[in-house]
Amino acid sequence: FKRIRSKHRPKDELYKMANTFNSMIEILERNFEKQQQFVSDASHELKTPLTIIESYANMLKRWGMKRPDLVEESIDAIYSEAGRMREMTEQMLLLAKNEEDLNMAFTTFNLFDLCVETGKTFENVYQRKVHVHCGERLVYVQADEQKIKQILYILLDNARKYSSEAIDIHVGRTNGNAYFSVEDKGIGIPKENLHAVFDRFFRVDKSRTRTSGGTGLGLAIAKKIIDAHHGNIQIESEEKKGTKVTVILPNRVQNDEVEK
Ligand code: ADP
Repeated sequence: FKRIRSKHRPKDELYKMANTFNSMIEILERNFEKQQQFVSDASHELKTPLTIIESYANMLKRWGMKRPDLVEESIDAIYSEAGRMREMTEQMLLLAKNEEDLNMAFTTFNLFDLCVETGKTFENVYQRKVHVHCGERLVYVQADEQKIKQILYILLDNARKYSSEAIDIHVGRTNGNAYFSVEDKGIGIPKENLHAVFDRFFRVDKSRTRTSGGTGLGLAIAKKIIDAHHGNIQIESEEKKGTKVTVILPNRVQNDEVEK
């Protein structure tokens, strides 16, 4: 984009206007670059499953009739990579949305109950112990329940992928705000990578997480949803010790305001 050059003096209105236009152009440029980066990262990420699907389809076409053993392996791989592509596409669509298009549906609910229910479902599906700890059992919040649940799944799933022991959820209030945290005793994240984990497509070890199914979009989505709640999401981690992600939801409702 072209900058506007003003021949006028700093005090002139026209000079000020030109300056305002120039800073607007800078913001536009930054956003444009971000969008370009997103499209380029997304295409790159989608290419890998697509290449796998193509090569298995090719194999099936050439040898499928003569090699029944190959048929099952190929179909499994195609199915799983297509699923991965579907998940990534859905996640990317969500990330591309503006905040006002997220269709936030705020209701009042007990965060502690949600953590217990989600933890139980997770335990049943993945056979991994989830302990829920709380200071109090009534932690009412005004938030989008489905989206908070989605975040809980993202965090629990990360804890499961990058650790092998039980997962702890803590829930309660701090300075009047509600919070929950998901903590694991797993491999942790190197200090130098910690600042980047909320970036789209960021993965500490691309080769390792590919096999465990990571897309590098989970934490970016969690942050986007928490930003739409005007809340806060923080991560603490130490290599070989574990990771703790804490979500703070702003104080919109107190327990005694909720009719029991
Ligand atoms: P992914 O789908 O790859 O897990 P995320 O955005 O959820 O994507 O996380 C980004 C990266 O941060 C992961 O690829 C992983 O390297 C690191 N990470 C996230 N959570 C954990 C955790 N609990 N323990 C260790 N590393 C983690």
